[in-house]
Amino acid sequence: MLSKILSRAECAKCKVCCVFDRSDIWEIPIITDETAEYLNKHGFDAELEQRGNAKVFRMGFKDGQELSYCPMLTSDGCKLGDNKPFDCRVWPFRVMRLDDNLLGITVSPVCNNVSTLPLKTLSELLLNDGLADKMFAYAEKYPAAVKPYEDNYPILCIRKQ
Ligand code: SF4
Repeated sequence: MLSKILSRAECAKCKVCCVFDRSDIWEIPIITDETAEYLNKHGFDAELEQRGNAKVFRMGFKDGQELSYCPMLTSDGCKLGDNKPFDCRVWPFRVMRLDDNLLGITVSPVCNNVSTLPLKTLSELLLNDGLADKMFAYAEKYPAAVKPYEDNYPILCIRKQ
């Protein structure tokens, strides 16, 4: 979904969005019933736990480890390829709750490739190419995809609920 602004090669080289520490474990992707079915059908071994009307990978920090790796991550990138969760396909954009009746789409400063692009480029992708509509529709269907606002995440567009 971000191919206009981020090449697959750049994305595959990085993998920062697939590794979590305690401060950003909230970033783990929402797994819809369709994705859970795909995991089952293709024999991907991953424990899931319920999160609202969707699921997430069961993650943990064993033996004092600082980092937790997504179970779908391999040295070659994501095992799921084009079937990766929606949250992963749109990262580093996130829907965040700004107020009781206000949602915003933010960009994670952790992704250097995208967060450093000009505002005009990011806005065009979100607004002109319809990505914002898709993200807000997804957030409405799966409320667990909406994250609490993080202070250092620039807000790119907002929508009243
Ligand atoms: S599902 Fe794939 S893209 Fe998403 S966090 Fe896991 S390894 Fe990364």
